[in-house]
Amino acid sequence: MATTEIVKKDSSSIFRLLDKEDEKTGQKMEGVSQCPFYDEKGSQDHFARTKAHSKAERNAIRKLIPEYLITQFIKDAEEQGKVKKIDFCQCHTPRPEPLAKEICSTCHKVIKQ
Ligand SMILES: [Zn+2]
Repeated sequence: MATTEIVKKDSSSIFRLLDKEDEKTGQKMEGVSQCPFYDEKGSQDHFARTKAHSKAERNAIRKLIPEYLITQFIKDAEEQGKVKKIDFCQCHTPRPEPLAKEICSTCHKVIKQ
């Protein structure tokens, strides 16, 4: 796949615009991504550039995959028992486990975000 990339920065974020071309079909798709340099607490995210690049690339590649292939892939995974249904916590006031905050310490199920 051929890639063309545009990077723009301002004081708070990095933007990436990335073009991917499927060389077999000649089809081109654009992937866009934005990632802030600082989190909500004001701490610097040293991986902002990497994250913006990876997300833009993923978004572009995703658009090049035909929808029928994705649907078939999911259907095959379900038929092969590779898809698990998640049993979410039903507690009135879920209490997150100290070392795994997504798990309820009362019922040991996943807390829905
Ligand atoms: Zn629970």
